[in-house]
Amino acid sequence: MQKMLYAQSGNPLQCLLCPRACRIPENGRGICGVRGCKNQEGVLPYYAGVTALNLDPIEKKPLYHFRPGSMILSVGFAGCNLRCPFCQNWRISQNPDSAARYLSPQELIRRALSSGYNQIAYTYSEPLVHIEYLLECMRLARSAGVANVLVSNGCLEPAPASAVLALTDAANIDLKSGSEETYANILGGDLSAVTGFIAKAWEMGVHVEVTTLLVPGLNDGDDELRRCADVLCGISRDLPWHLTAYHPDYRWKAPPTDPRRIVAAAAEARKRLSYVYPGNI
Ligand code: SF4
Ligand code: SF4
Repeated sequence: MQKMLYAQSGNPLQCLLCPRACRIPENGRGICGVRGCKNQEGVLPYYAGVTALNLDPIEKKPLYHFRPGSMILSVGFAGCNLRCPFCQNWRISQNPDSAARYLSPQELIRRALSSGYNQIAYTYSEPLVHIEYLLECMRLARSAGVANVLVSNGCLEPAPASAVLALTDAANIDLKSGSEETYANILGGDLSAVTGFIAKAWEMGVHVEVTTLLVPGLNDGDDELRRCADVLCGISRDLPWHLTAYHPDYRWKAPPTDPRRIVAAAAEARKRLSYVYPGNI
């Protein structure tokens, strides 16, 4: 059985991976649904359970400044530490029991090599709640000359963030809102953890791009987007920023983002940031 990292044994077990800081009772699971406690030790019942494995254009991650025009082997898992009511991937992110098949780290690297593109994206829902699998795959990938790409909500504690970013070549990180309240009360996350993750990735020399899904009624107002731009400018004006359109899904019923809103928001953001891209329109 794979040992759980970033946890303190006991009943309840204290998870130290993300700001949710779950105290997991015996035979229970944390909020992400994939990290549990048995005999007062951490258990990972979904270790190496892969829900999706596809070859995607790298622009779909989205990454526009890292190996453009290439394809990337993209692997996904069930579960997520957040509860975004507009989640476009909720059937997997909110259901740890989604159909999955076992894929060993060695087999994942072998497939990346045989794809001919030598790069893996850990993506789709929230890969970081499977950090033990990620770290093992990333180490093997590094030694095999395969690039590691992380697509994440970035809501993680500093120690595991440093460990995973040390093995990451490129990342697309969500900045879902510029408001602490929105993160805390609606998404179940922590804005300062996310901004810290983005800043740390940048400082560690990871190629970083950031995505904000413009959700009508949640984060598409001028003030909100200005706050997001403030966060990014505070790190670097050269951080590429993707402003992407939402469509109704899960619990959010507002109509799709008006493409004109995306274009206008991108034009405004370009006054402050060097690379801003409208997406999903
Ligand atoms: S990673 Fe999962 S179990 Fe750990 S604190 Fe976050 S939500 Fe809870
Ligand atoms: S962080 Fe991503 S995968 Fe998780 S609930 Fe939010 S949108 Fe869905």
